[in-house]
Amino acid sequence: MAETRHTKVLIIGSGPAGYTAGVYASRAMLEPILVQGIEPGGQLTTTTEVENWPGDTEVQGPDLMVRMQDHAKAMGCEIIGDIIISLDTTVRPFVARGDSGTTYTADAVILATGARAKWLGLPSEEAYKGFGVSACATCDGFFYRGQEIVVIGGGNTAVEEALFLTNFASKVTLIHRRDNLRAEKILQERLFKNPKIETLWFHALEEVVGEDNPKGVTAVRVKHVDTGAITEIPCKGVFVAIGHAPANELVKDVLELHNGGYVTVKPGSTETSIPGIFAAGDLTDHKYRQAVTSAGMGCMAALDAERFLAGHQG
Ligand code: FAD
Ligand code: NAP
Repeated sequence: MAETRHTKVLIIGSGPAGYTAGVYASRAMLEPILVQGIEPGGQLTTTTEVENWPGDTEVQGPDLMVRMQDHAKAMGCEIIGDIIISLDTTVRPFVARGDSGTTYTADAVILATGARAKWLGLPSEEAYKGFGVSACATCDGFFYRGQEIVVIGGGNTAVEEALFLTNFASKVTLIHRRDNLRAEKILQERLFKNPKIETLWFHALEEVVGEDNPKGVTAVRVKHVDTGAITEIPCKGVFVAIGHAPANELVKDVLELHNGGYVTVKPGSTETSIPGIFAAGDLTDHKYRQAVTSAGMGCMAALDAERFLAGHQG
């Protein structure tokens, strides 16, 4: 028979935001339930070295996430392998339904479902992900010191990544499918002034070219969108920056959103537009999108939930 579980705090998501919320909510004796979702451990399980997690000069992403899971569990957080398929925010307690058939009722909910970088969907892009193809300059730029890099996209992210990558690369080529950038003018100015950056207009990535031993990228083949002419550009790194999609499916019709789908929280807090629903990590954050900032927001969400529940007792 389908089970119903009640908890004071339901945490949805098992990335740095979710597990940190689990640690703090457990230590506040809230006996939280954390539902892991389809990707236990979140985005960091898809990468290798993480070099900007404080306290670890270098740590493998999947190892770090196992440690976070163990930490949350040790503090008393119940961790469940399930996927939340719907969340009813109109009733109290809130009602979440799991793919397993379990129903979760909760006095407060912490949403920590993260975001996903968008990819072009090319087989060669997939083949070299983590071996020269990346969607995170902050994470991987350091590995391309003195190398040539290409960035795909024309929005704020692409331009910011191109600018950031000039700290490491000998040359950055920004490849965009039009001759007009979506990025803010001030960023465009910086881009055009930077002697290390070249722009290639009206081109789309056709193929990432690489070798297998050792596995790595050697070039990209790009296609002119009008003429179809193919050009090969030598490079060691390919940064795909064509946008991010926050995982907002559970709440996109009921919560306030910003910047194309990120959950809006009150400044300096994790409170959403519905009292008792808190949001943390990449789901709310179009700007920083880092493990440490997500973890920080996970902490804030648990403290905010604790305060909210204290105000609703009795
Ligand atoms: P995520 O890590 O995205 O986790 C989201 C969680 O929500 C997942 O566990 C998922 O299963 C769960 N979920 C989603 N929907 C549901 C649902 N319906 N029901 C239940 N659960 C659900 N940052 C750094 O600071 N340093 C780095 O070196 C670094 N490298 C990166 C490398 C790569 C390849 C990528 C993709 C990202 C990297 N990042 C890095 C960014 C970092 O991973 C993210 O900022 C961080 O993971 C966001 O944490 P989060 O907890 O908000 O969400
Ligand atoms: P974005 O603004 O949606 O831009 C995506 C870019 O990628 C566009 O230039 C788009 O081209 C291109 N693109 C999309 N799909 C493509 C495809 N299949 N092939 C080739 N190119 C493709 O995404 P973003 O830059 O990640 O920004 C997302 C949001 O976060 C925005 O609201 C942005 O302002 C915000 N943001 C803000 C900051 C900041 O404030 N500093 C930093 C980063 C992001 P077209 O232009 O032709 O559509």
